[in-house]
Amino acid sequence: MYRTNNCGELRLAHAGKEVTLAGWVQTVRKFGSITFADLRDRYGITQLYFNEELNLQLDANPIGREFVLQATGKVIERTSKNNKISTGDIEVEITSFKILNAANVPPFTIEENTDGGDELRMKYRYLDLRRPTLKRNLELRYKVNRSVRNYLDKLGFWDIETPFLIKSTPEGARDFVVPSRMNQGQFYALPQSPQTFKQLLMVSGYDRYYQVVKCFRDEDLRADRQPEFTQVDCEMAFVEQEDILNTFEGLFKHVFKDVKGVEITEAFPRMTFDDAMWHYGNDKPDIRFEMKIQNLKTPVNNTSLAVLESTGFKVFVDAETILAIAVPGASEYSRKQTDELTEWVKRPQIGMTGIINIKCNADGTFKSSVDKFFNEEQQKEIATKCGAQPGDLILILAGAETRTRKAMSELRLELGNRLGFRDHDVYKPLWVIDFPLFELDEEANRWVARHHPFTSPKPEHIELMNDLSRYAEIKANAYDIVLNGTEIGGGSIRIYQRDLQEKMFAALGMSKEEAQEKFGFLMGAFEYGAPPHGGIAFGFDRLCALLGGQESIRDFIAFPKNNSGRDVMLDAPSAIDDAQLKELSLKLG
Ligand code: ASP
Repeated sequence: MYRTNNCGELRLAHAGKEVTLAGWVQTVRKFGSITFADLRDRYGITQLYFNEELNLQLDANPIGREFVLQATGKVIERTSKNNKISTGDIEVEITSFKILNAANVPPFTIEENTDGGDELRMKYRYLDLRRPTLKRNLELRYKVNRSVRNYLDKLGFWDIETPFLIKSTPEGARDFVVPSRMNQGQFYALPQSPQTFKQLLMVSGYDRYYQVVKCFRDEDLRADRQPEFTQVDCEMAFVEQEDILNTFEGLFKHVFKDVKGVEITEAFPRMTFDDAMWHYGNDKPDIRFEMKIQNLKTPVNNTSLAVLESTGFKVFVDAETILAIAVPGASEYSRKQTDELTEWVKRPQIGMTGIINIKCNADGTFKSSVDKFFNEEQQKEIATKCGAQPGDLILILAGAETRTRKAMSELRLELGNRLGFRDHDVYKPLWVIDFPLFELDEEANRWVARHHPFTSPKPEHIELMNDLSRYAEIKANAYDIVLNGTEIGGGSIRIYQRDLQEKMFAALGMSKEEAQEKFGFLMGAFEYGAPPHGGIAFGFDRLCALLGGQESIRDFIAFPKNNSGRDVMLDAPSAIDDAQLKELSLKLG
C-alpha cells in the first residue's frame, strides 16, 4: 500500500495517528531549519511538516513542485489553522519520506487560478487536469452522467451501443470520413448522431433506448463547439410528443436536484417557436428575466403603432420592423451610457445604425433622443404600448426584419448581463415547441430540414408539403429544451411510414434514386412493422458547463480540441506516411 489515507481526509480527530500519504508536491516553504510542503492529490491538500532532522534529509534529497512523494508521519494539530482547506486544522509531522518520481518545473502554476494561457494548458492538459477547477468540472460531469443513467435505468431504458463506422447521418454538418482499407476507394462516415440506428432499434422493438455517446461533426468551430462531443441520445416507441416532454422534463428535474440540490417543482413552461421569436427574437429564450421585445411595427403580421409614422420621422417610416424593450430602472442612464449602447449596436456583429431611446422619468415626464419628432403625448403613447413604467428606459431599434430582430435579441441579453439578470445559479428551463419543418437555406436558395429529415410534420400540415409556396407554414412535431438562453437538447416525433419519408426526401429536393441509395435501409425497415416513435438528444458537455456555471464546454471535457479542431497535446491531426496512404489506396492532391 502506497498510502493509508488520501490528502483530503485527515481531521483533528486523527491527531496522534501514524499515516502515510502519497501525492504531488504543490509548494515547498523553507523557514530556516524547518520546511513545510503541501501535498496534493485528487482529494485535497495536506500540509507536511519536516522538522530539523528531516530537513537535513530534504537537503540531501531536495523536492520541488510536482514531485511525486510518499511521506509517513504523525498527524498533529496545527498552530496556525487554515480554514480554506478541509484539512486545515492538522498537519503531518514527517518521520520518513521517499521521492517516487522527480518532476520538471511545470510550465504554469497548478493552482485554482493559473498563469497558463489556453494553448499552453491544452498542450500540457495532464497538468492542467491537476488543477482543482478542472477536477471539480470532471467530477460534476461524472455526477451528471451517473444521475442521467440512474434516472433512465429506473424507467427501463437500455443503454445500447451503436457503431461509429457508418454511412452519413444528416444532422446538418459535414461528415468526418474514414477510409476503408478492406474496401479500397470507399469511406465510412463517423456518426453526426446515432439517429438512424436508434430509429432502427425502435423497429426492432427496443422501445426505450439511450446512450451517452460521442458524435462527430466537421463544422467551423465557434467558442462552444467541439468536433467530437457527447450527447445523451434517447428514443422511445409508442409515444406522442407529450410523453417525451414529460419523461425528459422528469430527467432534468432529477438531475438538477441530484447534482445541484435545486428542486424545480412546477412544470417547465412551453413556448411555441413563433412566440419565442416574437417576444425574445430567438428560438432559445433566456427567461430568467422579462424585458420582452415589443413589436411596434413588423411585416410579419403588420402590427403597426400609428403614432410612430404620424410625425413623418423617416427612420420609422422607412423601417420594415420597429422593436422596443423597456429596461427597468434605467431611465437615469447618462448620455455617456446611452451613447455607449449606441456604439454597441453599431458594431459589425450587430450591424445597426443606432438606437432611439425614451427615458420614462420617475415624475411621469419623458425625455427622448427624438424629442424633435415626438411630443410628450406621443412618447407617452409609445411607452404605454411598451408597458414601460416610470423609471424605465425604452430602447428602440428600427430596420430590416431579420437583422433588427436579431440585434434586439442580442441587446436584450447584453442588458440582461449588465443588469445582473442572468444569474448562473438560477435555472429557468423551458420547452420550445412547434418548430418549422423546413427552413430556407438562403445561400443555396433551397429548403432544408430545420431539424433533420426524419422529423414528422404535424399531421394537419402534411397537405401543405404539396405546395412549395407554403413550406414556411409547415410545423413539425419537434421540440427543444432550453436552459438559461442555451439550447441543451432537441428532438422530434419521427416519420415511421415509407410514403411520408419518401415525400419528405422529395420535398428536400432528393430524387427517388438518391433517397433509396442513401436511406433505403431505413425506409425498408419502415415496411416491416415500424412503431410510432420519437426521441430527443441533449448536449452533455453543454449541460455540464451550464450546471458548472460556465459558458465554455472546453473545460468540462478531459481532452478537448482547440478552436482549429487540433489536439495540441497529441499534435493531431497529422500527416500519415506513404506506406499507409498506399495501403488505403489514397493519393494526396
Ligand atoms: N439526432 C438529433 C440531434 O442530434 C436528436 C434527435 O432528433 O433525437 O440533434
